[in-house]
Order: sequence, then structure tokens, then C-alpha cells
Amino acid sequence: MIKLLFWIVLLAVVAFMFGFKRGRPVERDRAAATPPAPPAAPPARTLEDMVSCAECGTHLPASEALPGRGGQFCSAAHRGAHEARLAASERDRASGPSGTPGG
Ligand SMILES: [Zn+2]
Repeated sequence: MIKLLFWIVLLAVVAFMFGFKRGRPVERDRAAATPPAPPAAPPARTLEDMVSCAECGTHLPASEALPGRGGQFCSAAHRGAHEARLAASERDRASGPSGTPGG
């Protein structure tokens, strides 16, 4: 009786393995037939414009840039420095040519 059970289990295992081996290439063909999924774009990251600071040239995302006179800036300090320099050059231009006082 035990021998009979042994042979039934052995036949079942062999049949399962044959079926498994025969089934695999079909699975592989089916997988090859279906086109591979297109690479999904990362949902969180989106392309953003980069701008450079007019004072120091550092590149930063446009959303983080501070707009000011003369361009975009990386920080309020650089914006202040750049605008102060612009104001100084305008003052020099208004006072006279080539910065020679008097005449
Ligand atoms: Zn800067």
C-alpha cells in the first residue's frame, strides 16, 4: 500500500515537472511577444527652468530665484549687492563722463 502511494506521488511529481518545463518556454514567448512597458517618467520630478544669479552666476531653479533689477538672484544679499552696484554706476554716469569731478 505504501509502495502504491509512493509511485502515485512520484508520477505526480514527474508529471508536474514535465508540465512545468513545457510551460516555461510558452511563458517566455508570451512575455517576449508583449512589448516591454515604456520607462515610466518619474512622477514627482518635473523639468524646471534653471536661471543663473546675476551677481555670482550660481545656477538655481527659477522657482527659487529672487527677481530683481538686472536679473534673477540666488539670495536677497546678492540682489541687494547687485542693485547697489547698479545704483552706484547710474550715479557715476549722472555725475559726469569718466568720473572726473569738476572740469
Ligand atoms: Zn548669487
